[in-house]
Parts: sequence; structure tokens; C-alpha cells
Amino acid sequence: MTAIWSVDRQNFINNAQSVKGNNNVMSVVKNNAYHYGLEFAVESFLEACIDTFSTTSLKEAVRVRELAPEATIFLMNPSYEFDTVRQYDIQMTLPSLDYYYRHKEQLQGIKVHIEFENLLHRSGFRTLDEIHEVLSAIEQEDEDHRVIVEGLWTHFGYADEFDVPEYQIEREAWLKIVDTLLSEGYHFNLIHAQNSASYYREEGLLPHHTHARIGIALYGSRPYSSLDQSEITQALTLKANVIQIRDVHQGDYCGYSFAFEVTEPHTRLAVVYIGYGDGVLKTRAAHDVLIHGRRFPIRALMMSHMFVEVDETVHAEDEVILYNGDIRIDEFTFKGVSANSEQLSALNHHSLIKEIR
Ligand SMILES: *Cc1c(COP(=O)(O)O)cnc(C)c1O
Repeated sequence: MTAIWSVDRQNFINNAQSVKGNNNVMSVVKNNAYHYGLEFAVESFLEACIDTFSTTSLKEAVRVRELAPEATIFLMNPSYEFDTVRQYDIQMTLPSLDYYYRHKEQLQGIKVHIEFENLLHRSGFRTLDEIHEVLSAIEQEDEDHRVIVEGLWTHFGYADEFDVPEYQIEREAWLKIVDTLLSEGYHFNLIHAQNSASYYREEGLLPHHTHARIGIALYGSRPYSSLDQSEITQALTLKANVIQIRDVHQGDYCGYSFAFEVTEPHTRLAVVYIGYGDGVLKTRAAHDVLIHGRRFPIRALMMSHMFVEVDETVHAEDEVILYNGDIRIDEFTFKGVSANSEQLSALNHHSLIKEIR
């Protein structure tokens, strides 16, 4: 009766293949591959012919190297463990001029991607002048003892926003950096900027880009609501069971602290064995679940249980779907429950049974 988190592996791989299409994709496997599990995700992406990975954590990058000896692995955060980065052939961001000058000795032989800051202001070189400065500083070093410039990248802060002009602004600023450096004769083996939202709204790669750096679409959620459901498939199911049915009456309060007041003369409540302790977000409780292919409303969410208002077709032991291909996480993201990745990250793999089918 314990609630189950399960993934259909073949569906997951098929989705990755379809997201990739004919483009090169750098799959983002940060935070334990959006909580799907690093090993599962890396192996599935390799099967989908995706052999480039990126994460924010050096520990994860090293694990990816063990799982994928031939892969290109990109660390999006700067590290200070230079020997490990070199030993596992991890490519890494070059996040600022200051970082370069401080660590240029330790960076010898490490492959870096120069990062352009743009509107997110989380990391990166601020201007073309700063990028020129580092490129010429590197050229002045002895060829055998310098950092290796392998790539050029940025991260958009507004690709998921359609109502403000910021995405167009950061996009133009970035494309100008790329165009200028390429026209000056610089070459980069990897040029990447686009997250899932940017990749879909541009209908593929931006000019001169070698890869899109994709997370959420590979994990089965749409980055924005106007994208058709058929573009991305969710392979994840989260399901629980009805423990018992309770009949309640007008004026009864159900759940802690008056959570649900019965207003109908007679109401059937299913007590379902899953709750926020399993990672179901509180905001999710304002919406429906799926039982026998029909939608029923959640009435109260507790730590390990929830009440769902049902009719006479629902009985003890019936299966209750919180999420699957027909009741998708992204549906609730667009209803304001939370970001797709937030619901994925919250799911409690210690209390849920985890199955990969
Ligand atoms: C998380 C992340 C991505 C992937 O974003 P999605 O919206 O999940 O596709 C790409 N680039 C960076 C720098 C990230 O941190």
C-alpha cells in the first residue's frame, strides 16, 4: 500500500531522443538528475545518443565520468579542487577575470568554457572587453602551461518569460558576443546557452551554437504552457492507494484544524495513503487526482494521508494517481503549484517505493 514513484525507462529514453531530435544536446544532470537518479539518467541519456553532460557539482561530475568514460562533462560552477577536475577530465566554467588571475597556475591543462554574465548576474564575464582581456592574457602564457579554452557559454535568466522584453535583450547581447568573437577568428569547440525554454522557443539551436543545455524537457515537463503536450512525454508516475472510504455529513470538519468543511448533506471521502511527507507539495492540494481515469478533488493534505472527495465508484484499495502521462506535473506548474523541478525535487525517495520499469 506504500505509495510508489515509478519511471517507464523506455518512455524516458524515447522522450530524450525526441527532445534531442537532430541537435546536439548537453543534458543537465544537476541535483541527482532532477531527482531521477544520476545513474539512471546518465545511462538512459547515453542510450538516447546524448553523450554530453553538465552539472553544478564536482562530486556528480566525477560520478558521471565513472558511468560514462568517453563523455564530455561540463561543470557549470567553478571548482577549487583543480587536481580532481584535471584527473577526471572535467571541463569547467571560467566564471570571471578575477578567478582566472587568482588561479591561472592551478588551471594549467584544464579545459574551460568562458562564461558571459548577462542578465542573471549569477556568474560570468561582464563585457566583451573582459573576455578579450582574458583571451589575450591566456595567449601570452606558454602554450604547454596554459588553461585550454574549449567553450563559450551563457545562461539566460528570462527564457521562460514571454510577457517582458528581457529574453530578447539577453539573447541579442549574447549573440553579439558570439558573433564578434567568431568574426575576430576565435574558435570554440562548444558554444551553448539555451535551456529547455530557449531551445523550444527558438525551435532548435541558436546560430553558431554546438549544443543546447537541456534539463527539464529531458525529464518530461514542458518549460512553458503554450508548448503542445505532445512535444514532451512524462515517463514518471506517482501513485498511492485508498486505505478506506469515510462517509461524512454536512457541518463535519475533516482533517487538522478545520481543513475541509462538508457542505453537502452527504459526502464520500477517500483516505489516501500519501502526503506532504512523501513530497506532495502543499499547493498541489488545491487540485485533482486521477482514479479509474476520472478526476476527483483533493480536500485536505496531511503528512502521510490525504482526503479526496469521491463518488460511489471508488473503493478501498483503489489506485490514486497523483502524476502520470495523463495528469502531468507541468499541468500543475502552469496552474501555479510550483516549478516542475521543485515538485520533482521534493518527492521523498526514502518514504516512497522507487521502481524503474
Ligand atoms: C538548470 C540549468 C539548465 C537547465 O535548465 P532547464 O530549464 O531545466 O532546461 C541549464 N543551464 C544552467 C546553467 C542551469 O543551471
